[in-house]
Amino acid sequence: MLDSLSRYATRPKCVNMLSWKGSIISSLDFASSAAQYPGTFYWDFHRADLHSCLLRRAVELGAVVRCKARVVDVKIDSESTKGEDGATVVLDGGEQIWCDLVVGADGINSRLRELLLKKPDPPIPTGDLAYRLLLSTSDMLEDPSLAELVTNPQVNYWLGPDAHAVNYVLKGGKLFNMVLLVPDDMPADGASTLEGNVVEMRKLYEGWDPRIEKLLGLCESVYKWRLCIRGPMESWSHESGAWTMLGDAVHATLPYLASGWVLFTLWFSFRRSLFVYFRTGTRHILLPYLKIS
Ligand SMILES: Cc1cc2nc3c(=O)[nH]c(=O)nc-3n(C[C@H](O)[C@H](O)[C@H](O)COP(=O)(O)OP(=O)(O)OC[C@H]3O[C@@H](n4cnc5c(N)ncnc54)[C@H](O)[C@@H]3O)c2cc1C
Repeated sequence: MLDSLSRYATRPKCVNMLSWKGSIISSLDFASSAAQYPGTFYWDFHRADLHSCLLRRAVELGAVVRCKARVVDVKIDSESTKGEDGATVVLDGGEQIWCDLVVGADGINSRLRELLLKKPDPPIPTGDLAYRLLLSTSDMLEDPSLAELVTNPQVNYWLGPDAHAVNYVLKGGKLFNMVLLVPDDMPADGASTLEGNVVEMRKLYEGWDPRIEKLLGLCESVYKWRLCIRGPMESWSHESGAWTMLGDAVHATLPYLASGWVLFTLWFSFRRSLFVYFRTGTRHILLPYLKIS
């Protein structure tokens, strides 16, 4: 997929750790870091671009994608009436789909995790939330102190009291992504994503590096996400080997741990097992993947 992905990648030159007032704490040059591991690189993607590349490739390889197909149950054959060696997925309209292997990846609020564990198991709030915003870089280019963040693409982390901020360029320099991490002030029993208040958000970053204040001044609307984690599970798969789990449903981590990277590493481990399964039909080959948990 390198060719298709490379068309959408933004290539940051370095990552900087900055104090909340803007002075550099440490810095890593991506070109020299990648040079130590030939064939590796540091790329940033807009999520929609990454998803569309993955979707196109999956369809090219013969995947059939169905939308509006909410899974409400998974039955392992020994527990169902079909009597074959596989699993049956039940959709909310009642339709049942039989398959050799179920890979559940239904996100942080996973229904399948609870089905696998046979008990309620909601995500655990961490006490932090994230404001996420995308700015148009055309506004930033008009201000010389912000223009450099676009013309010299870089990943910057500002670390401050009770908060931090991360940003980088996306979409070939057209968009600027910012994630701001602060204490969670959302109602405990309410939704985990809400429209945020731009004025409140700016207040949390008053007195920070003037570039942060200017960037937040360009923001017109924002959403905030409660940050949750998932506790460890004894196993990520059903003992039959016909059903396994992947992604935030079983190993959600916080943005501070570079969750995308964690998922990517785990995905590689899973892909290796899946490859052997498809070649040999030995479904239990998936079981070692669980041991990572
Ligand atoms: C604020 C915030 C910022 C983040 N920033 C980054 C970042 O910059 N980079 C990065 O790499 N990661 C980031 N992450 C983490 C990243 O979003 C997740 O790790 C990733 O999306 C997990 O992918 P997933 O496929 O496991 O779950 P999801 O992306 O949540 O996908 C789950 C899918 O399952 C579907 N679904 C749910 N229930 C059912 C059901 N019962 N039946 C059928 N389908 C169902 C959902 O509709 C959804 O399409 C961030 C997370 C948060 C909260």
